[in-house]
Amino acid sequence: MTLTEKLLARASGKAHVAPGENVWVSADVLLTHDVCGPGTIGVFKREFGKTAKVWDKNKIVIIPDHYIFTADSLSNRNVDILRTFVQEQGLPYFYDVIDDPNGYWIFDASRGQLKKQYGSRYAGVCHTALPAKGHTRPGEILFGTDSHTCMAGAFNMFATGIGNTDAGFIMGTGKLLIKVPQTMRFYLEGALPKGVMAKDVVLHVIGDIGSDGATYRAMQYEGPGVHTMNMDDRMTIANMAIEAGGKNGVFPADEKTFAYVDERTKRNGTKSDYTPVEVDKDQSFVYDDTIDLSKLEPTVAQHPDPGHRALAKELGKIQIDRAYVGSCTGGKTSDFLAFAEILKGRSVKVDTFGVPATPDVVHELQTTKWGDTTVWSLLESAGVQMTENASCAACLGGPVDTFGRMNKPMNCISATNRNFPGRMGHKESKVFLASPYTVAASALTGHITDPREFL
Ligand code: SF4
Repeated sequence: MTLTEKLLARASGKAHVAPGENVWVSADVLLTHDVCGPGTIGVFKREFGKTAKVWDKNKIVIIPDHYIFTADSLSNRNVDILRTFVQEQGLPYFYDVIDDPNGYWIFDASRGQLKKQYGSRYAGVCHTALPAKGHTRPGEILFGTDSHTCMAGAFNMFATGIGNTDAGFIMGTGKLLIKVPQTMRFYLEGALPKGVMAKDVVLHVIGDIGSDGATYRAMQYEGPGVHTMNMDDRMTIANMAIEAGGKNGVFPADEKTFAYVDERTKRNGTKSDYTPVEVDKDQSFVYDDTIDLSKLEPTVAQHPDPGHRALAKELGKIQIDRAYVGSCTGGKTSDFLAFAEILKGRSVKVDTFGVPATPDVVHELQTTKWGDTTVWSLLESAGVQMTENASCAACLGGPVDTFGRMNKPMNCISATNRNFPGRMGHKESKVFLASPYTVAASALTGHITDPREFL
C-alpha cells in the first residue's frame, strides 16, 4: 500500500484498503477557524442538538486567523462565536485573539495595522500554527475546514480539507466516510541548488501536471531529495497539493520529522505518542515521476492559475506593482530569512508587504540578529512594510481594510499559494506566485526577476 492507503487502512480498522474503496475513517484532529468555524458549529448544533457535546474535546483545535485584523464587525463577531462555543464545550485548544475569556474581539483601526493587537494565546495562521503548537503527529488523520489543511501531510499524516457539513458531522461522531484516493508519486533526487527553494519544487510539479492534474489523488513525495529538505520545505510542498486538485500531500517521516514533532508536543504539552507509516516496497501508483532537484530553477506560476508555469528568467518583461511575503505557505521564519538574504542592504522599488504567519515568526525575526541589526529591522530598512499582526491578511483578499489587500487592478508577485482571479483583492489584479527569493529580487527591480542575479 502507499502511505495514504496505509494511513486510511489504519484509521478505518482494516488490514488493507484499495483506491476507490469507501471507508469510515476516525479523526485524530479536527481543525477549524474563524471563517468556517461558525458554520461548522451551526451544522453540529442543528444535527446533534443545541446541548450536544462534541465527540472528543481534546481532538478539536480552533484557530482564528483569517479575517482578524479588520474593523469589519461581522468578521470580529466570528471570533466571538468561536469563544462562546469553546466555553460551552470546555475545549482546551482554542487560540483566541484576546486573553479575556469573557471579552469581545474588536480590532482598533486607529492604532494602525503594523503594531500587534492580540493576546498571549493567539497563534496566527492555522496551518503553520497547528504543527508549531504540537497538533501534528506522524501516522494520524487530520481533517480541517480549509483547503490547505493538506500542509500537515509534511508530517506523515493524512490531512485534507473538508466542508462545514462534514466538519459538523465529525464534531458529533469523530468519523468521516472517505473514498481512498489513487496515489501519484514524486520521487525527489539530488538537492536544491543556490537560489531555488521548496516553493520552486511545487510550482514545477503543478506546472507539469496542471492545476487539475491531481484531482482527488494523493501526492506522495519520496526519495533521497526529501531528506535534504527541512520541515518548512516539506510543509510548503504539501501545502500546495490542493493547487493541483490533490486530496492530500504526504511525506515519509524521518529524524527531522520526529525532532520537530517531539520538540513541539513536549513544549506545548500535547499528545506526544504516535506511530508513523513507512514506505512499502510494494506500492501501486497511478503516476510516477522522478525529479532531479539540482536541475530546477526559480519558477513562477503566472496569473490566473497555479499551474501556469514559467521560469523567473523568462518573465523579465512583466512589471509588478506590489510584492508580498506571507501566508501559511510563504510566511514562515525560513521564508523571511530567504527574503532578507536578498534584501539585506538594498531598497525595494515597489510597495512590499511582509506578513509573518505566526506571532512566533514575528518574535524570531525581531530577535534574530545579522550583525548589529535584527532581521525585522533589516527588512524595514529595505522598505518592507512589516506587520506584527500575523494572520492570513491579503492572501485571500479579505475585507477592504485588510493589510496588503489589492484594492485596485495591479500586478503582485507573491509568496502565497493561490492566484485565481480576485484571490488577493481586486478581481482585475494579477498574482504571480513565486518563492520568497524571487519575490525579493522582483521587489528590488520592479519586474519579475531571477533571484540568482542577487545571490
Ligand atoms: S494564509 Fe492563505 S492559504 Fe493559508 S490558510 Fe490563510 S488564507 Fe488560506
